[in-house]
Amino acid sequence: MNILEKIDLDIPEDIGHTFITKLMGGRLNPKFEQLLAEKKELCIKSISSKAIFSDYEIEKIEGCSVYFKSGNIFNGPNISKILKGSKIAIIFICTLGIATDQIIAATSESGDALATIIMDSITTELLNLLGETISKIIKKEGMKEKDWASTCQYSPGQYKWTIEEQKEIFKMVNGGKIGVLLNKSYLMVPFKSISGVYGFGPEDMIDKTRVACDLCPRKDCIGRR
Ligand code: SF4
Repeated sequence: MNILEKIDLDIPEDIGHTFITKLMGGRLNPKFEQLLAEKKELCIKSISSKAIFSDYEIEKIEGCSVYFKSGNIFNGPNISKILKGSKIAIIFICTLGIATDQIIAATSESGDALATIIMDSITTELLNLLGETISKIIKKEGMKEKDWASTCQYSPGQYKWTIEEQKEIFKMVNGGKIGVLLNKSYLMVPFKSISGVYGFGPEDMIDKTRVACDLCPRKDCIGRR
């Protein structure tokens, strides 16, 4: 089990800009630009980024089920496709921390809807940045053999992997150790958190899906990569 705290993020000057521009259909007015500049520091100061991950050996994949030697099982057509050919999987959870949720909730409760949207955009991009940073660390960790490579990341809640499978993720990795819990709807609290899986195995055997979005039918999704 690996735990990382105070993870350094290489934050670009224009953090939040891309997400809010997509959200607004490609154009930003001066008020949005001003709010992005005003709220950036508050959002950055709120984050306390942490991650936890662990590797598990895959025993077999049969039909839509992935069986781990630990006795854990993932169920779903896409997660079994992604992990086919992998020898191990690294399961991870990462978070920006609860203070980020709190400042957004406080702004929302104050009735400032525009500032709430702007802060949500900035912190969504910060969370993506954390996900990318963790991905690099996990990909180094997972290359147990010279000829191995990594699959793309897949997460419960993505296409054809039900959100209920978060239960299995949290059995395999103790999110509580970094302050992340599941609520009754299987959503993570803090909300600005990511959980997921990477497979690792011989390069010529693992699944080559570029990113999870390539398997997803939501063509107009603003998060699409
Ligand atoms: S297209 Fe959107 S909903 Fe689908 S996997 Fe990508 S980010 Fe998620």
